[in-house]
Amino acid sequence: MTVTTTIEELGQEAAVCTRCRLSAGRTQVVFGVGDPSADLMFIGEAPGFHEDKQGEPFVGAAGQLLTTLLGEIGLQRSDVYICNILKCRPPGNRDPLPDEIESCAPYLKEQIRLVDPTIIVTLGNFATRFILDRPVGISRVRGERFHVDGRVVIPTFHPAAVLRGGGAASRQMEAIRSDFQAIRQVLAEHPEPAEEQLDLF
Ligand code: URA
Repeated sequence: MTVTTTIEELGQEAAVCTRCRLSAGRTQVVFGVGDPSADLMFIGEAPGFHEDKQGEPFVGAAGQLLTTLLGEIGLQRSDVYICNILKCRPPGNRDPLPDEIESCAPYLKEQIRLVDPTIIVTLGNFATRFILDRPVGISRVRGERFHVDGRVVIPTFHPAAVLRGGGAASRQMEAIRSDFQAIRQVLAEHPEPAEEQLDLF
């Protein structure tokens, strides 16, 4: 990977990536969306059917739930940065394979470096294990705060798992809602640095 200076450059590089087998089956690379200097970054697993078609992460049913949960803590998608571990859809939405994660990881690491968020929310097991770099289970660690490379990491359930668990009525829904309240709390504890004063004269 070449050294990139902007998220746009990195996205252009990713758009033509052929590092792993998933490039052969994709409609397009699903790189990331949102504020390129967001305080809050969400990391999911991999694009699904709708994401692959539209080129944007979290636009299907799981994405609608993510958007709703963001709204409940007063945020819009454009206030945060949203991406995935894998940038291409695995066939039939199967789990990411270790070598696919390894091939794609440099893009995510570079996205984190460039966006430089204060808080990273990992959605589900794959993102959580990757960011915490240990084989944890999401049910045990969700809602906790971890500190990784100077950032606060808050793991929570993957919205698709919440929907599979019965959506609005499920215990996971209660848990993910409470985790979003924790996100709101951590954001309040880490206010955005004041805009640099413009010295016009
Ligand atoms: N699930 C994910 O992990 N990412 C998406 O972008 C959509 C569904």
